[in-house]
Amino acid sequence: MPHIYLIYVGPMESSIFNRPKSTTAVDWRQLGHCYYPLNLSLRQRFGCRVQKISLDGGFTCPNVDGSLTTGGCTFCDNRAFSPSRRVRRDVITAQIQRGIEGLRRRYEIEKFLAYFQPATNTYGSLDKLRMLWDAALEDERIVGLVIGTRPDCVPDEVLDLVDEYAQRTYVSLELGVQTIHDASLEWMNRGHGHAASVDALQRVQGRHFETSLHVMLGLPGETHAMMMETAWQVAKWNPHGVKIHNLYVVQRTRLAEQVGTGQVRLMEMQEYVNVLADFLEVLPPQMVIERISGDAPPKDLIAPRWVLEKGSIKQALIATLAGRQSYQGSKYSGHSD
Ligand code: SF4
Repeated sequence: MPHIYLIYVGPMESSIFNRPKSTTAVDWRQLGHCYYPLNLSLRQRFGCRVQKISLDGGFTCPNVDGSLTTGGCTFCDNRAFSPSRRVRRDVITAQIQRGIEGLRRRYEIEKFLAYFQPATNTYGSLDKLRMLWDAALEDERIVGLVIGTRPDCVPDEVLDLVDEYAQRTYVSLELGVQTIHDASLEWMNRGHGHAASVDALQRVQGRHFETSLHVMLGLPGETHAMMMETAWQVAKWNPHGVKIHNLYVVQRTRLAEQVGTGQVRLMEMQEYVNVLADFLEVLPPQMVIERISGDAPPKDLIAPRWVLEKGSIKQALIATLAGRQSYQGSKYSGHSD
């Protein structure tokens, strides 16, 4: 008989997030998981398998168009993010059609999320955002929006608009926090500091949409203790979800040169998995783990090549946590100060 495991999570006083104050039952351990995976949370929400369709809304980025810098983040291949790009409504509907057809050739799926993914997807006029989101939601198989952006590109008027959409459909806002350490943000030429993340996270509280954070592990100069400081801060912020991956290098980036000349060392797989396990252990059990490895296009990935072995990474994580007899939240104490 499997052990029936329900975790009841009470309100977090130290969270700046206005998470539901009611207790939440999380049954992912009962289902055999060692962390709360995105596919399970989507199944629970929508009652069936749901897949994201990546959409290019024709955005650029303040780190690319010269508002902040022109080079972009050290690891980002942003040559396609030209400031002059424009995307029409019919281009979005065509992308959705293609995305759905592609997925349905492989899987029996009826519901999809429109994922505005490349570049900074709130870096545009409110009219443009409305046009794109309305175009995406026209298709009744699209059951929600996922919007990837930077913490310094979510002014209140944008959050108000996201909130308006979240009152009629599922919306998740993804914020690229990456790390809480300013030295690392400076190294990656991010164009914003930790204060911008704190500010954004304060201003999303009490909204109707969900928020998830992107975090990178293995940044140059970050010790294990520093990565865990980021983990504890993420636990304290207590967003709905988190996406984690190791630093990897793709073609046409400054990082490629730095790795090539030996200035930057990349993590080995088990080294990453060990830190990832440590990270997950301190997160709240109800936080959805949306990603545990990167999504590099194989043709562009330079190193480490093990990033492509998603199944091996997952198996190594499961084995590591099992070996420790631990799981997501096993060291979560309800506060992280
Ligand atoms: S903020 Fe995002 S889109 Fe902009 S340069 Fe950095 S990684 Fe690329």
